[in-house]
Amino acid sequence: MAQENVNVVARIRPPSNETNDETCIKTDQISSIITLTTNQKQFHMDKVFEQNATQEEIFEYVQPIIASVINGIHGTIFAYGQTGSGKTHTMIGSDKNLGIIPRAIEMIFIALNEESKNRNDNFKFKISCTALQIYTEKTYDLLNGNEKIEIPTCDILKNAKKVEVNSSNECMKILECGLEQRKVSDTSMNEKSSRSHAIVTLTMKTVYFKENKKHERISRLNMVDLAGSEGRKHTNNNETQNFEASNINKSLLTLGQVIRSIINPHPKQVIPYRDSKLTMILRDSLGGNSKTTVIVNIHSNSKYAAEAISTLNFAVNVKKVKNTAILQEFITSKETLTLNAEVQRLGGENDKL
Ligand code: ADP
Ligand code: MG
Repeated sequence: MAQENVNVVARIRPPSNETNDETCIKTDQISSIITLTTNQKQFHMDKVFEQNATQEEIFEYVQPIIASVINGIHGTIFAYGQTGSGKTHTMIGSDKNLGIIPRAIEMIFIALNEESKNRNDNFKFKISCTALQIYTEKTYDLLNGNEKIEIPTCDILKNAKKVEVNSSNECMKILECGLEQRKVSDTSMNEKSSRSHAIVTLTMKTVYFKENKKHERISRLNMVDLAGSEGRKHTNNNETQNFEASNINKSLLTLGQVIRSIINPHPKQVIPYRDSKLTMILRDSLGGNSKTTVIVNIHSNSKYAAEAISTLNFAVNVKKVKNTAILQEFITSKETLTLNAEVQRLGGENDKL
C-alpha cells in the first residue's frame, strides 16, 4: 500500500475593495512557489492558483480525488484560511459560480448513473449525505434541524442523520437547506463571516457481481469549509465573539497540533485527535486511510500579511502529512450470501458467517 502526501493547493483571492494597499506575496504558477515580498521567504505548494483562477479550474484540479472516491477510496477536501479569504466561495460558491461541493455531487451522480447503464454485472449504487457543523466545540446536525449531537468515540457519522439521495438536484436541495442553518455572526473583518466549521460527507455504496462473488465498495467524500483561521488580534469583537473565537480556535489549534505531532512523532506522545471535534472527524483524513487535498485560501493584501504567513506555514506543515488510502471493497462469495439469507429467513444471527 502506497503512502501519499496530503496534496496542498493555494488559492489567492482577488484584492478586496476595502483596501488599496499592495500585495504581500508573489506567486510562481510554474514552480508552485509563493514568495513573501517582505523577506523573500519561499513556501512550496503542490499547486498555486492566482486570483483570476476560475471555479472550473479549481474543480478540475480536485477531480481525481472525487474519481477515486467513486472507485471506492475515501477522500477529503478541505478549505483553510482567514475569514474573507474565499473558503466558502471555493467549497460552496454561489448559484452562478458553483464551488466544489455542488460540482462534486453532480460529477458523482453522472459517473455512477453512466456506470449502471453501461455495465452488465448487476452494478448498483446508493448515495447518502450528512452535514454537520462544529460551533464552539459542539457538533450540530444540519440535516436534522441543527440539533446538537454527541460524538461517539469512533465514528461521528453513525450519530448524524444520513439522508439517502437519488439525484444531484435532490442532494443539493437538502444540503442548501441544511447549510442555511449554519451559525453566522458579524465581525469587523467581514459582514457575515462564518464562525463555524461545516462538514459535508457523501457516502457511496456500490455493488457488482463477478465470478459468483458480490463486490461491495463503501467510500466517503468529506468536504469541509472551516471557520476563519485568523488570530483574535484582528477582530474587534464583543465577549460572545471572543468566546466563539477561543472555541473555534480550539479545533483549529488542535488541527495544527495533530499535524505537528504527525510530522514530528514522539514515541511517548499520542496524536491528539481526540482533543477537538474537528480532528476527531478528520482523523482518517490526516495520517490515515484517505486521499486528502487541502486548499489554503489567501488574502494577498499587505494588511493581512500576518494571516497569509500563518496560512502558508500551515500549508507547508500539512503537506508533510502522509496518508495510506486503501480500497474499501468487501467481497462475499455466493455460498456465504445464500447461507446468510437462509440464516436470516430462520430468524437467527449471522454474526459467525
Ligand atoms: P470565507 O468563507 O473564507 O470567509 P468567502 O468565500 O465568503 O470567504 O469570500 C468572501 C467574499 O469574497 C465573498 O463575497 C466571495 O464571493 C468573495 N471571493 C472570495 N474568493 C473569491 C474569488 N476567488 N473570486 C471572486 N470572489 C471571491
Ligand atoms: Mg465562509
